[in-house]
Amino acid sequence: QKPQPSDTAIAHSFTPKTIGRLAREVGLFSEEVEHYGTTRAKVRLEALNRLKTQPDGKYLVVTGITPTPLGEGTTTTTLGLAQALGAHLHVNSFACVRQPSQGSNFGVKGGAVGGGYSQVIPMEEVSLHLTSDTQAVMAASSLVVDTINARVLSESTQSDKVIKNNIIFLSGSVASEMMAVLALSTSLGDMTRRLARMVVAYSRKGKPVTTEDLGISGVLATLMRDAVKPSLMQTMEGTPVFVHTCPLSDIAQGNSSILADQIALKLVGPEGFVVTEAEGGAELGMEKFFDIKCRSSGLHPDVVVMVATVHGLKIHGGGPAVTAGSAMPKEYSAENLTLLENGCSHLKRQLENARAFGLPVIVAINTFSTDTDAELGLVCEQAKLAGALEAVPCSHWAEGGAGAVALGQAVQRAAEIPHQMNFLYDLEMPIDDKIRAIAKSMYGAGDVELLPQAQQKVALFSKQGLGNLPICMAKTHLSLSHDPERKGVPTGFTLPIRDIHANLGAGFLYPLVGTLLSVTHMDAELEPDMEYMGM
Ligand code: ADP
Ligand code: MG
Repeated sequence: QKPQPSDTAIAHSFTPKTIGRLAREVGLFSEEVEHYGTTRAKVRLEALNRLKTQPDGKYLVVTGITPTPLGEGTTTTTLGLAQALGAHLHVNSFACVRQPSQGSNFGVKGGAVGGGYSQVIPMEEVSLHLTSDTQAVMAASSLVVDTINARVLSESTQSDKVIKNNIIFLSGSVASEMMAVLALSTSLGDMTRRLARMVVAYSRKGKPVTTEDLGISGVLATLMRDAVKPSLMQTMEGTPVFVHTCPLSDIAQGNSSILADQIALKLVGPEGFVVTEAEGGAELGMEKFFDIKCRSSGLHPDVVVMVATVHGLKIHGGGPAVTAGSAMPKEYSAENLTLLENGCSHLKRQLENARAFGLPVIVAINTFSTDTDAELGLVCEQAKLAGALEAVPCSHWAEGGAGAVALGQAVQRAAEIPHQMNFLYDLEMPIDDKIRAIAKSMYGAGDVELLPQAQQKVALFSKQGLGNLPICMAKTHLSLSHDPERKGVPTGFTLPIRDIHANLGAGFLYPLVGTLLSVTHMDAELEPDMEYMGM
């Protein structure tokens, strides 16, 4: 068997159709499309308004087992499934994925969105340029920081009295919250209001300062006016894709934008399918998809697709660690049913998480060339025992949409099943009870421990009337627990909550779990000092 060419070589072997033709095919009017070159376009929000009485298509969310260093391929599967539905089963399909962030993507994954024969093309455009949304977010957050600096400087040259009220703290990561705002907005007006209520600083007395207080909320909305429009591109098989926003999956909700999903659901029509990806394992990205994104959008998904790999389950079953640069342990390249069966307990746990939201769940096994029939059979059997409606091995990485036709058919069947979606917790519950509900039912924690800083924030936020916001857990995606080294199904652990932050523009509270953010959240030390907040 000849090895498959690289993602880049495959991407370059396909010629995309012009964006004007794609836009016409999906039912957009020419005045609703803003071209960026010949293979990318922004879709104006007027399209959503025009189509508002049109019924939505079926809404599929793709999630996965807890990611491992060998790669599970949830994005690849999202695109492969959309290709199968749109180009092989001949129903309207749309894939909605996050924009890759240049830092993590460039070099590491060779710049592809997806992989093998299930990718977005042209590759360089999707990974490097797209439509400048990230640049708009950077410009907007620089404006906030510069305004605060200028204010601090001008106030510090005035009398002592004024200094008592001046701004001294920059709050959290402004760029990260702006991206979260973009992803959760449901209209231009909604985005403008969210930007205006972002708390970006604190006065010396601990009073929150919003962008509106700084007098720059209007300028911010203008800077972000184009970024709120989803970018249209295509898969290798010419089916449409929205690539839009990249909120972080730890301190933000990690899902692509609501507006992309909403427009796509209208465009595919009632017989069509929108496939959207929730980053990270089901306990993290999928939980945020339902409890944060769906709560904001009001959309009700129809089916959950859970991506699993044989090698990923072997790692969760206690297989040896995989380190970059060293040889692949033989456990992952040869049959090993014992490790795999152990690892299926992790799949079972994530399936319980998915089923907690009331929807039918299909397991998609993203097959690698080293998987054996016995291994694939074992995963299918275990997945069904654990409550998956169906479990389907698929080969869209090697064969494109043709390799995911059986998955597409399983999803079509599942989408016909009547269901009632539910959220995991009520917004009215106290903040700590909401955190406990997520920790116990999604992560399998024995209990939650709120450290003093977190307890103070619970009291403060409740007093400020912020107790009803949804919770966006900032936890590692590499384990069900807070410890990235613990694979499989960790039990009996107590989940430590170090601190809790509020993102009022995005509209959620984000508890910092364990030590995660001491490394990834560089402006954490810029958060307000509790002493100044009268605590
Ligand atoms: P995720 O969304 O889970 O992070 P991606 O879909 O981005 O994963 O894929 C990660 C990498 O794994 C890509 O480089 C892709 O080409 C590769 N990959 C995905 N599926 C397969 C497969 N079945 N066989 C080999 N490589 C794969
Ligand atoms: Mg992905």
